[in-house]
Amino acid sequence: MANIIKVLKGMKDILPQDIDLWHKLEKNALDIFTRYGYKEIRTPILESTELFARGVGDTTDIVNKEMYSFEKSERSLTLRPENTAGVVRSFIENGMTRLSAPVKLWYKGPMFRYERPQAGRQRQFHQVGVEMFGIKEPTADAEAIMLAVDYLKSLGLNDLEVELNSLGCPKCREEYKRKIKEVLKPEFDNLCEDCQTRYEKNPLRLLDCKVETCKTIFEKPEIQAVIKSDFLCQECAEHYATLKSYLEKLNVKYTENKLLVRGLDYYNRTVFEIKSNNLGSQNAVCGGGRYDSLVRQLGGEDTPAIGWAMGMERLYSLLEQVEPQKLDGYIVSNSSADAFELAQELRAEGLNIEFDLTNKKFTKQLEKASKLANFAIILGEDEIKSGKVSIKNLSTSNQITVDRCDVISNIRK
Ligand code: ATP
Ligand code: MG
Repeated sequence: MANIIKVLKGMKDILPQDIDLWHKLEKNALDIFTRYGYKEIRTPILESTELFARGVGDTTDIVNKEMYSFEKSERSLTLRPENTAGVVRSFIENGMTRLSAPVKLWYKGPMFRYERPQAGRQRQFHQVGVEMFGIKEPTADAEAIMLAVDYLKSLGLNDLEVELNSLGCPKCREEYKRKIKEVLKPEFDNLCEDCQTRYEKNPLRLLDCKVETCKTIFEKPEIQAVIKSDFLCQECAEHYATLKSYLEKLNVKYTENKLLVRGLDYYNRTVFEIKSNNLGSQNAVCGGGRYDSLVRQLGGEDTPAIGWAMGMERLYSLLEQVEPQKLDGYIVSNSSADAFELAQELRAEGLNIEFDLTNKKFTKQLEKASKLANFAIILGEDEIKSGKVSIKNLSTSNQITVDRCDVISNIRK
């Protein structure tokens, strides 16, 4: 026998027995996002590598370590590691700047990151996310967060923690970066290798480091004092305060976390994550923020924007398992032709129907019916002769015989 070929490391099949919950994740996204005026956008999974280098940022882990890139016809191509860059590319390329603001787009689909696979972390995973373009006011930030919370609620996830921070604007952040570098300078040699690189390129990202020795360094009082210091300029501080007042008015509970800087380079002002206590160490289900400079950085006109993405595998693992949906009816008959004909009639009416394709014994067919369906629809010799059908309710075992034309009404009720 030939070797069995296995799925790649860090990638998973989504199997039929698990698909009902995936459909729920997708259906609720469509329903809730539509309620907020969002339209779905589907961009290609493959994009030019340059899009991510410029759009995600070359100081990020994603671009430096995690991309699936390859050459084709002398161009470097990459399987998308996230979808914001692709959506922004499409926004610019399709002239959506000219549409009246806000432009509200949502997406779902697979993302690819070459990471170490572990619980809650895969190499192909799925995200559902939203992007809103054109609004600089904090109403947009509040609405985006509200939308995330509403979507989670629709899935029965009510007890998640919203963490919030403001990274300020490039101007006020510059001074903060300088102070962080200054206070960390004596510790430089003790920082992990990644942090030593980040120190020059993107010092805020140090605060995000998961390495224990780095975390211990950041605990030092003089360093904490700098981390916790207020650095926002007046406009950024007002934006942040107004956002918080909206969230309070809307009863969205949040905690402020000064260490929340998010992995991507493009964020400014608002950043947030939504975490669950039931996920172990990969506990973030949602990450997002404002990215007012990205559209310009990718060649478009200055356009403020805000968005977030959720990891669907992590959402999935928080959902209650639902009972698999049963068929409405399973037709039990020794006349394949008649069973087939009735199946088609009932399917055309929108019922979920199967019948035995191999003409097994009556009792075997009944057994199968009770496993798969709510009703056994029995088409025996007598029934066929008299133009009737017997319907057995498989949860109560009640059986009635009705005219063929009454089958549907008896199954639907
Ligand atoms: P993390 O800190 O967990 O690596 P991140 O900051 O890299 O997250 P984002 O790029 O903000 O994540 O993506 C948003 C969400 O996508 C995350 O909150 C998480 O739920 C999910 N996610 C990210 N990477 C993975 C992965 N490798 N496997 C499964 N889900 C992921
Ligand atoms: Mg990551």
